[in-house]
Amino acid sequence: MTVPATIRAFIFDLDGVITDTAELQYRSWQRLADEEGLPFTRQDNEALRSVPRRESLRRLLKGKVVDEDTAQAWMKRKNDYYLALLDSDPPEMLPGIGELLAEASAAGIKRAVASASRNAFIVLQKLNALDMFDVIADASSVVHSKPAPDLLLWTAGRLNVSPQSAVVFEDAEAGVQAALVGGFRVIGIGNAGVDQAHIVLPNTEGLRLEALLERLNRL
Ligand code: MG
Repeated sequence: MTVPATIRAFIFDLDGVITDTAELQYRSWQRLADEEGLPFTRQDNEALRSVPRRESLRRLLKGKVVDEDTAQAWMKRKNDYYLALLDSDPPEMLPGIGELLAEASAAGIKRAVASASRNAFIVLQKLNALDMFDVIADASSVVHSKPAPDLLLWTAGRLNVSPQSAVVFEDAEAGVQAALVGGFRVIGIGNAGVDQAHIVLPNTEGLRLEALLERLNRL
């Protein structure tokens, strides 16, 4: 298979693209919201995809004001719920991702994770996937996370590729925005918020390198 010279790297979001921890993130926020009497629905949660922890809490509060100690305590509690779910309900790779990673590796395309999650390393460890990537960027890599492009630009820098030669895979509006602002090509996966992406796929199933490169070449 010939890889176009212009495509040198794939950068994957974690929650919602490599694995379905987006569901565990949702259940953790829902538990906190229920305990604190905050109105929160699965639909509200769609706006939290790829949004960093602090901003997620701000959106969950919907204008309600809490002091800093309370905010910190609630974020810690939510994270404890999330970590417990990671233990009781260990994540698995979403269909098609393992195959795509193997094909990309064989074709000489570099692979990275760029996740807004501070738990990215733990999740990748649970997936036995740490060594499948050349670079792993998480919330501690940059000050401004998605929708700022910084995390993706930092990742491209570590991979030593230009944004124009890297393809970002994202399930969230914040991540698609980050990729577009950064000058990357972006593939949106499955969610209504990703319609600005260059290519939109309903899910990760059937993600195969050859078909993907063919579509990317036509952009
Ligand atoms: Mg995501």
